[in-house]
Amino acid sequence: MGLTVLMNSGPWLAVPPPGYGGIENVVATLVPELRRLGVRVVLASVHSSALAVDELVSIFPDGQFAHLQRPYNQVSGIAQAHQHGVVRRLRERDDIDLVHDHLEAVGLATLAAMGPDAPPVLHTLHWDLAKHPELYGTIDGGDRVRVNGVSASQLARAPRRLREHSVGHVHLATPLATGADRRAPVRKGDHSVILGRVTPGKGQDVGARLAQRAGFPLILAGPVGPYHRPADLAAAGNEALQNPDVRFWYDEVAPHVDGELVRWIGTVAGRERDDLVATARATLFPLRWEEPGGTAVVESLALGTPVVATTRGCLPELIEHGRTGLLTGTEDDLADLVLAADLLDEAECRREAARRFTPAVMAQGYVELYDRVRQSALTPAGPTPST
Ligand code: UDP
Repeated sequence: MGLTVLMNSGPWLAVPPPGYGGIENVVATLVPELRRLGVRVVLASVHSSALAVDELVSIFPDGQFAHLQRPYNQVSGIAQAHQHGVVRRLRERDDIDLVHDHLEAVGLATLAAMGPDAPPVLHTLHWDLAKHPELYGTIDGGDRVRVNGVSASQLARAPRRLREHSVGHVHLATPLATGADRRAPVRKGDHSVILGRVTPGKGQDVGARLAQRAGFPLILAGPVGPYHRPADLAAAGNEALQNPDVRFWYDEVAPHVDGELVRWIGTVAGRERDDLVATARATLFPLRWEEPGGTAVVESLALGTPVVATTRGCLPELIEHGRTGLLTGTEDDLADLVLAADLLDEAECRREAARRFTPAVMAQGYVELYDRVRQSALTPAGPTPST
């Protein structure tokens, strides 16, 4: 299609990510589809990124995720240094038709501040939009910078100023959804799983407490702060406690983790992750925040595992209660729903994923938004912002 897109993934993790990596997974899923459609992709990431692209822009040799939870005055230079490289690349050559930016706050602020000769920008909002009221309340991207959400519910909660810049939402996708409707069913075990960063919003403490009370086996998978393996966390000194997610783990989750009924296995990746989810009776999301996009939700459907969750954020958009999962507004009901999930049809979950959450569906959504953003930049009245 003759378009060159600079995809700014940020400096935190390589693309594809080694295990955990929400944004980097989105980029790794989207880019191959865009290139199949003829888009030339310049990726701004770290040097160790192995994703096939037309050009790689990097400042750091490797992902900087381990530094992310250090105090602001020690860590803020990382995102700035990366973005400095991105802006330099944009000024060096005039070949970029559009920047698709994923670098929270720093990406949006610097790209919006560039002059009218800079390319049009689509900034994808991946997170909780209550996080940066100062920036989101004042941002002015003119007609050149637009934002999109990863769900309608996320945008509905966005500050007004941000909504005025919005061109809509594109749901997250997973490569596991391609052909998911044609995969054979997998033999289920008796475990449930919570897959995600161990952090208060994801509610691992609620899941672990309910599993102990109701007596169902639960496996927690995902990093605790920068620690991917239980042995690494155990070996970390007191300094680790500066990290709020590490404190959450020790104070709220670990007391319910006995290593038998409830286990924490650290970060899982690749085949191990897919087998863990595919053999689970349910994937549990005892959410305490308004989940904006939920990659792990669509992955679960693609692997034929119903989702049991609190009715928060994007969950009602992704899951049909009674067909692909069970939703409740009451935390304490989750335990009963984990057991009831056995009655749902795993093939129905896989069919839904193949219909709605493939990389091809996501890429189509983004190509449409790229068109709208470029039109808006060319015709200053712009398209009517939508939510
Ligand atoms: N993930 C993983 N291994 C783990 C835990 C998580 O590969 O042990 C992946 C998970 O499969 C998903 C991503 O990390 O692709 C998390 O994305 P999600 O949107 O669910 O959560 P968030 O971006 O809020 O962390």
